[in-house]
Amino acid sequence: MRTISHWIDGAAVTGSDTIDVLDPATDRPVATVPMADAATVDAAIAAAVAAFDGWSATPMSKRAQVLYRFRELLLANRSELAALITEEHGKTLDDAAGEISRAADSVELACGGPALAHGSTSLQTGPNIDTKSVLHPLGVCVGITPFNFPAMMGMMMVSVALASGNTFVWKPSEQDPGVCVRIAELFREAGLPDGVLNVIHGRQDCAERLIDSPDTEAVAFVGSSTVAHAVYSRAAAAGKRVQAFGGAKNHMIVMPDADPDVVADQITSSCFGAAGQRCMAISVAVVVGDDAEPLLEKLKVRAEQVQLGAGVTPGTEVGPVVNRQSQERIRSTVKDAIAAGARAVVDRSTEDVPGFESGYFVGPTILADVDTSSPAYREELFGPILVVLRVDTLDDGIELIRRHRYGNGASIFTRDGAAANEFERRASAGMIGVNVAIPVPVAAYAVQGWKDSAFGDTGLNNASWSFYTRPKYVTSRWDSVSGTDFGFRPN
Ligand code: NAD
Repeated sequence: MRTISHWIDGAAVTGSDTIDVLDPATDRPVATVPMADAATVDAAIAAAVAAFDGWSATPMSKRAQVLYRFRELLLANRSELAALITEEHGKTLDDAAGEISRAADSVELACGGPALAHGSTSLQTGPNIDTKSVLHPLGVCVGITPFNFPAMMGMMMVSVALASGNTFVWKPSEQDPGVCVRIAELFREAGLPDGVLNVIHGRQDCAERLIDSPDTEAVAFVGSSTVAHAVYSRAAAAGKRVQAFGGAKNHMIVMPDADPDVVADQITSSCFGAAGQRCMAISVAVVVGDDAEPLLEKLKVRAEQVQLGAGVTPGTEVGPVVNRQSQERIRSTVKDAIAAGARAVVDRSTEDVPGFESGYFVGPTILADVDTSSPAYREELFGPILVVLRVDTLDDGIELIRRHRYGNGASIFTRDGAAANEFERRASAGMIGVNVAIPVPVAAYAVQGWKDSAFGDTGLNNASWSFYTRPKYVTSRWDSVSGTDFGFRPN
């Protein structure tokens, strides 16, 4: 069994209050991880404080060079990192390797810091007066990340934060923290000075102490909406800069002119991939028109064929969900929805995998005729469960999205440009897909939700430059101006 440590000031730090990290495919412990006490949290913050002056004074091209080297190491070690993710998270090896590649995209964006993160200068803003804006790093930044993308979400925060000259304390999910410490080791190998990136593990008390520390300047959070709101409120009340991204219930509108085979393939991959544990997975398909049955038939065939299994087993398409509580919560929501009148087009929610009977498996499941007031529709299930609704018009479909509390992503499948345009303009979500079922923008744009899917006003990735820097405006003149003037003159 592996021992996962904290990573503080460039070294592994063990702790006594340990919990087991379980393999979701087997329910067996694969590692232990310590839960940080107050002294450990304070030590991580202190290391980040001590490293700030040196790192922020390091020329930005030198900072970028560390990131370039780190990106190479990340990709060179992709298989090892993917195996760690699969063992603790459960997703397939292929999917985990894809996560590392997407994490590398965020690092690549940050490598462009010298070209991307600059202020501006205007000449002659007054008589012989110039005005410029310069961007300062903030200081110690904290990142709290979810289990579902243990490497990628952290890299969306850490990369730009470090490129901008900040130091960082990262608290990953206690459910799959192994890859995060390995990433910190690779940063050190890439030449990152000690103390610039620290990783500590813990639960709510640990996160709250990090947020409350007087040395913490900014907090980035990704996780469920209830916690996102709590973190946002706590950090904002303390006057900190904060962005907090929450849950999702992503709708896909299927117009009558969309190719039903393409739509069925896309929904199947988006909804069931990673066992439905992607914040941008489609979990509601909204069929516009008289008849949803032909599409339901195609979805049924595909859902029945999906290979459920351990993430390490070749041929597995869908692995387990992350823990026993998730498995039980998802299964009981499906059961309740069916008892309340929903039609199970396919119900594999209680399926076991031979040889892995103790694993937290939930098979692909499709529910039709779901009441929109039921938890199966209102709540984020974070499992491979598809709800299919039927509406008469595009307008009705957009209205469903507008009324839902979440607004992370939304997609439309159509060949009609006018319908796509209308959808793009009016759907209330931060990330829109047009014939794209998982519309996560590339790193050069931003990840950003609306409504209860995000609290705060800056996104991740390219939008992070403004989150991790603060502008200063300098007005200067170098000629000598004599004589007093008590008026407030126009320029
Ligand atoms: P979670 O909210 O349970 O935990 C997220 C992090 O917060 C973990 O590090 C956890 O230890 C910590 N935490 C838990 N309770 C806390 C508290 N009361 N105060 C402070 N910190 C606390 O989320 P999860 O189950 O790990 O992740 C799944 C959720 O993340 C889903 O809702 C998913 O939609 C969301 N997510 C959103 C995005 C996005 O971009 N909007 C991306 C990925 C995941």
